[in-house]
Amino acid sequence: MTTRHIQIGIDLGTTNSEIAINNGNSVEVIKNDLDDEYTPSVFGINRSKIRIVGKKAYEQLFRFATKDELVNNKAEVKRIMGTAEKVRFERTGEELSPEEISAEILKSLKESVLKKHPEFSTVAAVITIPAHFSVVQAEATKRSGNLAGFDHVVLLQEPIAAAIGYGFMNAKNENWLVYDLGGGTFDVALVSAKDGNLTVVAQNGDNFLGGKDFDKLVIEKIIIPKIQAEFNCPDIEDDAVTFSKLKNFAEVAKIELSSREKTNIQVENIGNDESGKEIYLSIDITRKEFEKLIKHSIDRTIKLAQDTIKESGIKQASIDKIILVGGPTRIPYLRERLENELKIQVDSSVDPLTIVARGACIFGVSQQVPDVFMKKNTGVSKGEKALTLHFDSLTSDIETTVSGIIEDLRDIEDDFYIQIQNQSGTYSGTRVKVKHGKFFDTIRLDENKTNVFWIYLFDGKGNAVPVDPDSFTIIHGLSISGAPIPHSIGIGVVRKDPKTGLVNETFDKFFSKNSILPLKETKTFKTLRKLKKGDKENVLPINV
Ligand code: ADP
Ligand code: MG
Repeated sequence: MTTRHIQIGIDLGTTNSEIAINNGNSVEVIKNDLDDEYTPSVFGINRSKIRIVGKKAYEQLFRFATKDELVNNKAEVKRIMGTAEKVRFERTGEELSPEEISAEILKSLKESVLKKHPEFSTVAAVITIPAHFSVVQAEATKRSGNLAGFDHVVLLQEPIAAAIGYGFMNAKNENWLVYDLGGGTFDVALVSAKDGNLTVVAQNGDNFLGGKDFDKLVIEKIIIPKIQAEFNCPDIEDDAVTFSKLKNFAEVAKIELSSREKTNIQVENIGNDESGKEIYLSIDITRKEFEKLIKHSIDRTIKLAQDTIKESGIKQASIDKIILVGGPTRIPYLRERLENELKIQVDSSVDPLTIVARGACIFGVSQQVPDVFMKKNTGVSKGEKALTLHFDSLTSDIETTVSGIIEDLRDIEDDFYIQIQNQSGTYSGTRVKVKHGKFFDTIRLDENKTNVFWIYLFDGKGNAVPVDPDSFTIIHGLSISGAPIPHSIGIGVVRKDPKTGLVNETFDKFFSKNSILPLKETKTFKTLRKLKKGDKENVLPINV
């Protein structure tokens, strides 16, 4: 069987990235060389001028930080995706674009797949992006995927991927709140399934709020005051290298406190104080102390979640659950607060670090890879008839049409038939005639399921003739509608006050925040002065 659907889902995160594949039986999150399911989104050049990705680069940047390492390793490149900014790596003098750096991360994920499954098709992938990404940022992500060798890239919004991963496909007319707290960013979205349509109804976020800020609080409020009480180092905060190393201590402690009531930080290997004394310190920290530190940040996320619910116009009581995404959502205090204050059940049944990649992979099954990309990977073997299929791979209808063309049969007068059956054995279609290589059939789907269908081709005598592909997949449950816009969009209009004669510019709104794309609006305005087409001297600037 050849596969014509996307088999790979990737969460290209600001802090960590994950890759999941459809191995034929289930969705499998692929571990990297270090046996981790997540790979830090850090790229660097090591002392031997070799490109490194993931934990190795991450450790150079934090655990083993030196001045040299800080200018040769780059984290959080997602923040500058779609900008013209270049990142310079001192060791080689290379200047790489955000797309090129992201491509290195994607390549390393891809290699992990090929190490485990050497024959796996990496021609196409679903890559997730934040709901608030602009077209420019989204396009840059797509190009990055192409650079990494995925010829066909389909983008999917992170909250939708998370919802699919949590099983939203099977939800009937439900509303979920997707709470995604990552390493450096917070995103909250209200997703709704209504009459088979999946949409992000409202969303909010803070681009500078995440697990990293919790590490910083531990450093600034606990570690540094304790160091300074014992050692003579008034400027320790301003030293980037030391700060980087402290971040590593703080992060390890923070993660431990998600599963333990208290932990201990050994501050060492950060050099001497100003009197020449080696800085060495043991600090105890309890979960309660940590909770006090992050309280304010959690308050803010809850406020943004409440705003999102308000903006969506959906009643709190109609929100079925909160789904958790991102590493910091493993913090027990965060889960308690969400449940207590939003009064919505929190679903913490899945791993919040890999759920976006899983959801992207499941979504991929519904995405056909266009023929142009398939040719180089799958040769049609001798005797097989090449078939081109057309159908909606994601639908909320229970009956759907499938049409197909078999080029080889276009000029053949003999009778041929096709028959479509589903894998689960609940549906078997009638034999349909293939006329001049073309056929058209209506098939029935199993509700809220991934439906796999087999196609059989027969000649006039009833002999089976091999076809390629011999199967296809349709997901029944939801179709995904367009993205909501993250900000209101309008133009600046200059108006003259008839009384005072003064002009001032006001914002004329075309589309409100959270309207669903595509959108269209025509308005007519008059100019204050005469304009001539093509006149370069007398132009009309329009502020969008
Ligand atoms: P991103 O979406 O930005 O790539 P992730 O979802 O991978 O981010 O989250 C990374 C953050 O999660 C880091 O700040 C990390 O320290 C934190 N983190 C990971 N595991 C835990 C845990 N068990 N408890 C608390 N924080 C955690
Ligand atoms: Mg994330």
